Amino acid sequence: MSRRSRAAAASTLRCAAAGTCDQRPVCRARVLLLCLCILLAFALTLGLILSENETSSLEDMPIRVPDLNKDKLTHRPSKPTAAQVKRLVSEVNWSRLWYAQLQPFLIERHPGSRGSRTVRRHISSLLDSLSAGWSVEIDSFNSKTPRGPINFSNILAVLDPNAPRRLLLACHYDTKIMPLASRDPKQVFIGATDSAVPCAMILELVTALDIHLKMLKQQMAQVTLQLVFFDGGEAFEKWTPSDSLYGSRHLAEHMSRIPHPPGSEHTTLLHAVDLFVLLDVIGAPSPMFVNHFENTARWFEQLVSAEKRLHKLGLLSFHPSEQIYFRKDVIMDPVEDDHMPFLQRGVPVLHMIATPFPSYWHTMEDTADKVHSHTVENLTKVLVVFLAEYLGL
Ligand SMILES: [Zn+2]
Repeated sequence: MSRRSRAAAASTLRCAAAGTCDQRPVCRARVLLLCLCILLAFALTLGLILSENETSSLEDMPIRVPDLNKDKLTHRPSKPTAAQVKRLVSEVNWSRLWYAQLQPFLIERHPGSRGSRTVRRHISSLLDSLSAGWSVEIDSFNSKTPRGPINFSNILAVLDPNAPRRLLLACHYDTKIMPLASRDPKQVFIGATDSAVPCAMILELVTALDIHLKMLKQQMAQVTLQLVFFDGGEAFEKWTPSDSLYGSRHLAEHMSRIPHPPGSEHTTLLHAVDLFVLLDVIGAPSPMFVNHFENTARWFEQLVSAEKRLHKLGLLSFHPSEQIYFRKDVIMDPVEDDHMPFLQRGVPVLHMIATPFPSYWHTMEDTADKVHSHTVENLTKVLVVFLAEYLGL
């Protein structure tokens, strides 16, 4: 230290001791610097304390990793009041179902045809017009058939693709190609009950519940709704494992390869499916639905209860006794259908197919005039209640 700096140090010491100084600008700057240092130290200490508190409160919070298999088994339906049930089913609109939803399906729509494309546009544009905000995707693929390679297109719509779990509602939109020998060449097979009506019912369900589904999505619920309109449900010739269920075989395989939640090593999109509900051959009066699967008996029971409840509330028409459609007292053989590739991979299934089939099943007589409006409206109301209870709408 030089003499000069020693003198400056002595002067600073004095300044600090006596509060006076003859080098005032230098002294003030040092005091200011000291204050700033103290303030900085205080801020740092406060920051550390706060961040420690934050870390410990985060550590205290249990991180909920969805257990897809366990959560679907323990899922409980909500219990809407009678007033809520009345409000929900009042949203079902038969004339909208008949004109806006069903009529565009009543054309020949076998895989790869112009009719098939027209129906796909109808489904997509209806879903796009809703306020809930559906993510719609066309799942196109080629497959060998007895008539050579054909291009198929499933339509997939998910309300919230990021939700951990899904209730899946499905039908097939293709029509069977009827052999020329069984018909007048000018006649076309439109498959009103197989499966135009089920597809129209699904569109009416999501239209009637649009506002509720929009709210469900905003709430980022654990279970969302997925719709699937399968292509290629029918066989081109004789029903065999390789000539049938083209769309569902493709989709089940595809979903089994997609990790879910994203990045998961053990679970796929198939595990995300809580329940696979398949509608088929619906539209004839007084249909009977039975359950074929023990693991989904409690959800079949939910359909039974919904029918009873709506009957008691006087909300069903042409429904003389409380239990007509969903029957626990009847045993029927299971029917092979688009649920098979999912069932074989362990997905829980509810197969809502009318058995026995109507007499005109797979004939040119499966036309719109056979559709019983009251039955279709009643069944749509039962499904509105079922969806509302499952999803907690
Ligand atoms: Zn069929």
